[in-house]
Amino acid sequence: MRIDDALVWAAKELEGGESPSVDAKVLLANVIGKDATYLFTWPDKTLEPQALERFKQAIERRRLGEPVAYITGKRDFWTLTLATSPHTLIPRPDTEVLVEQVLNRLPQSNKGNGARFSICDLGTGTGAIALALATELPQASVTGIDFKQEAVELATHNASVNRISNATFIQSDWFAALNNMQFDVIVSNPPYIEDSSTYLKQGDVQFEPKTALISGEDGLRDIRHIINKSQSYLAAGGLIAFEHGFNQGESVRTLLLKAGFTDVETVKDYGGNDRVTLGFLPI
Ligand code: GLN
Repeated sequence: MRIDDALVWAAKELEGGESPSVDAKVLLANVIGKDATYLFTWPDKTLEPQALERFKQAIERRRLGEPVAYITGKRDFWTLTLATSPHTLIPRPDTEVLVEQVLNRLPQSNKGNGARFSICDLGTGTGAIALALATELPQASVTGIDFKQEAVELATHNASVNRISNATFIQSDWFAALNNMQFDVIVSNPPYIEDSSTYLKQGDVQFEPKTALISGEDGLRDIRHIINKSQSYLAAGGLIAFEHGFNQGESVRTLLLKAGFTDVETVKDYGGNDRVTLGFLPI
């Protein structure tokens, strides 16, 4: 079968899904080990029978609902390509807003002295946030934390394939294993969805680990925990920044203000929803 015919066939198979023709292209490019440009350039190229078979299997998995990033085993985030696994959340474009905000608001007091920031990413998963920050701030030392050993291994693998040497990953239940460590920045995209949310029953998200998504009745259990513990691990003047749900901006601001943080502010994502809230520990 020709490339263009295979794509038409696949898009039809995936009809009713969220993005049939994009999914078909990403999956075919992955199967033949080329990029999407190749598919446009060589529409009349005939697929090898083995490639066609693998493509059909990938389309069948997608038709049954599996996320594209779990089928291809990778996802682009920031300037990086990251390996994914069903043990961790698939990196989302909105989380790049969190990375941007941290980069824009690094604690001023440190900027003069060579910017050797120490940064902690709590619930790092694939390592997306930690690795994006480590790439942008080669002088910084970044520590990614996850309670799952599989995530620690995946993130370490992602650091290595992206040739990032200033990020290390540690297994810990939030701060529990971080004796006496202090950071200039604590950043987190923790679980923040209400336990009973019906959102979890549809689309790609049903294939992702619940532990990376849900956080108590109001979705704020983990954010509350992190804020309450964070003072012991954050240097004076340090920055804390969270990703959270579109309707949680006010709650997260209130939690931060109550805990004594200043200059607390919420920033919107690309869809115009509240998504990131940050604050500073007083000097
Ligand atoms: N933003 C994610 C979603 O909408 C949730 C990620 C999270 O809980 N940290 O699926």
